[in-house]
Amino acid sequence: MAGSVSKRLIELRKTVPEGVELVAVSKFHPASALMEAYSAGQRVFGESRALELEAKAAELPPDIVWHFIGHLQTNKVRKVINHASLIHSIDSERLLRAVDQEAEKAGRRIGVLLQLHVAKEETKFGFTPEELLAFVTPELLSSLKAVDIRGVMGMASNVDDDARIRDDFREIRAAFDSLRSGVMAGTPDFNVVSMGMSHDWPLAVEEGANMIRVGTSIFGEREY
Ligand SMILES: *Cc1c(COP(=O)(O)O)cnc(C)c1O
Repeated sequence: MAGSVSKRLIELRKTVPEGVELVAVSKFHPASALMEAYSAGQRVFGESRALELEAKAAELPPDIVWHFIGHLQTNKVRKVINHASLIHSIDSERLLRAVDQEAEKAGRRIGVLLQLHVAKEETKFGFTPEELLAFVTPELLSSLKAVDIRGVMGMASNVDDDARIRDDFREIRAAFDSLRSGVMAGTPDFNVVSMGMSHDWPLAVEEGANMIRVGTSIFGEREY
């Protein structure tokens, strides 16, 4: 299989439009696979478990930009803050406050995305669009000391029906647009729409994603 990661990555890159950031989701894959992608020029990697992120960050080149994309427990926040530059999976006020507090303690700023829950049968984590719009207020924003809210993240329903998948992505994009033209209007760094995975990223991009999270299409199937 040597060379297959870089080959798949290079082929994938040819099809990802300019302006769309590709996060290589490397969870459950060994450091050697990440190094293969790194050698092919990939620098942004997504991990979903705090301990795995910590171990890989210690072993791999320092110019890798780590994104955290998995469900995050508040007791693991510190580990993630030490390595990640963007956390995609802020799914509660409690987690957001914990990240803010730990980042302040660590003396650094961290970018976060607010996770939306629109899919019908998938993970229950995340805000509904209505909850999100009610949650992000000027009071919330001015209370955050070390966190920059950079955008939203979401997943579509895991179905074969393209129309249904598109509807989910549209809902995510619409929530982003409401925030951007509303409470986030004065914050140009609020500009990330993270949606789309191996099987549905082209639809996500058509529906307004500018960051996609692709694992299997680059690294092959995961062995859990
Ligand atoms: C695992 C994971 C991905 C990547 O999924 P693939 O189907 O392997 O591309 C994307 N986003 C999140 C949140 C994930 O947990």
